[in-house]
Amino acid sequence: MTARAGGRDESTVDAAYARLGAAIARADENRALVTEAYKITSPQTALTLRCECMHRLCTEVVALTLEEYEEITADPAQAVVAPSHADVDEREVVKRTSRFSVVEEGLREGG
Ligand SMILES: [Zn+2]
Repeated sequence: MTARAGGRDESTVDAAYARLGAAIARADENRALVTEAYKITSPQTALTLRCECMHRLCTEVVALTLEEYEEITADPAQAVVAPSHADVDEREVVKRTSRFSVVEEGLREGG
């Protein structure tokens, strides 16, 4: 039970990863749903998907077409969030519409 000092940064990083993990889990659900929907409907069909923000307990939903979702997630760094959750997510907001916002991870890296 030693070596607790100096572990602050690590736990902060862990917490950030946990939040990101929650976001990724919801993104995976969306991806599965979109893949299924493609089999039975057209790309212009609007679907109710889960907000992919970094809040672990988020239950918000976003409405967007399969086409829109495909376009956004073609970039793996991007995620779809509810408009009201874009500002509280830790990632950079790269697009805002009336129905959803798009956030992008790691914009500040390597710049
Ligand atoms: Zn959310």
